[in-house]
Amino acid sequence: MMGLDLRSIIVLSGIIGLLLAMVLMFLRLSYPKSIKGLGWWAAAPAVCFLSALLFAARGQIPDLVSVVAANGLLLTGIAMFHFGARHFFGLAPAYWSRMGLILAVLPVLAWYTLAEPSFTARVLIVSLLWAYIQMKLAVLIWRHGPEVFSTGFTVVVLLIHTGTLVLRFLTAWLPLPDEHLLDPTRVQTLYVVMNALFTVSLGVGLILMAGDRLRVLLEHSASHDFLTNALSRRTLITACEQELARCRRHGRSMALLMLDIDLFKLINDIHGHQMGDRILVDVVSRITLLLRRPDQLGRFGGEEFVVVLPETTLEQALIVAERIRAAVAQPAAELPPITASIGVTTNQPDDAEVDVLLARADQALYKAKAEGRNCIAVV
Ligand code: GH3
Ligand code: MG
Ligand code: MG
Repeated sequence: MMGLDLRSIIVLSGIIGLLLAMVLMFLRLSYPKSIKGLGWWAAAPAVCFLSALLFAARGQIPDLVSVVAANGLLLTGIAMFHFGARHFFGLAPAYWSRMGLILAVLPVLAWYTLAEPSFTARVLIVSLLWAYIQMKLAVLIWRHGPEVFSTGFTVVVLLIHTGTLVLRFLTAWLPLPDEHLLDPTRVQTLYVVMNALFTVSLGVGLILMAGDRLRVLLEHSASHDFLTNALSRRTLITACEQELARCRRHGRSMALLMLDIDLFKLINDIHGHQMGDRILVDVVSRITLLLRRPDQLGRFGGEEFVVVLPETTLEQALIVAERIRAAVAQPAAELPPITASIGVTTNQPDDAEVDVLLARADQALYKAKAEGRNCIAVV
């Protein structure tokens, strides 16, 4: 069929795998450490490359190496993609459930290589196990991956190739003359070519997935405060602008709370800056627990926070503000007691800019401080 030299294709696909392994290793070294699994994904095609070299040497080295070891390495490489994916999605690794299967199959392969040589039997065993591990990988990525192109692409690549493996499994039952690995029959050529395409496509899919993860991380760190994970000042102002525009269009009411921790400088001076940081984190988690889904909390400056409450009247905003004030003042285990003052305002019909709303909230906060702190004021 087209005079393709299968030995060359196998070596070439191994080399492409090696290049992908180098790219993935580079990503592992340069991407944030919180993106896990890239090391496994880099090592997997490298192991597949080794197996490709052994496969390509079929007939020139002992069969035990070019058949049993080569298949063992190939299946281990595929399992390593699975290990990497589990790490990538933050799941506990499941090394033994895969490796146990692979190790159990090796003596059977050795039997059908040395004792009762049968290429067909070996194709049946390897294609079935490979299809099984790969199907598990496709399901894992589909279940845990975000709904983006890279997830769909990688899953489709895995499914198409699993289809090829199933086809290889089924065709092994056909009454064809007993072929061998490098026999350029239609079925075997298709199988080897699909394996080569699979190596490239899977590598590309995984690189895209890692890139998507990096984008999400960068977007998050650009829009959130590093210490407390509340929204950054810029993101909160943008959210507030959008809400204000919506309110103007539909004649709705929204509220803004500006909260500032009382005498925080003193708390830092007495308990240290680190304790101050812990208090800031704790305050954000307490406030977050009290908010509804559309409400947004941002860190506006050092110990100053702003809450945007869409679809909220002044009366409702005062209830929320009082809940927040009480929650912040509630003593926490292992943290010094603190209080906060809160300025509350709502949008007025002629508020065109967020700055006007923020200035009023700031004024209200100033008023609360002047009224003795640990209280709420409205402007
Ligand atoms: P007031 O009741 O009038 O708000 O008094 P205050 O001491 O809270 O006001 P001030 O604005 O003078 O002090 C704010 C302090 O917040 C000063 C600064 O040391 C502290 N601060 C700002 N950012 C951080 C931070 O990220 N971590 C810690 N630990 N402290 C911070
Ligand atoms: Mg303060
Ligand atoms: Mg302040």
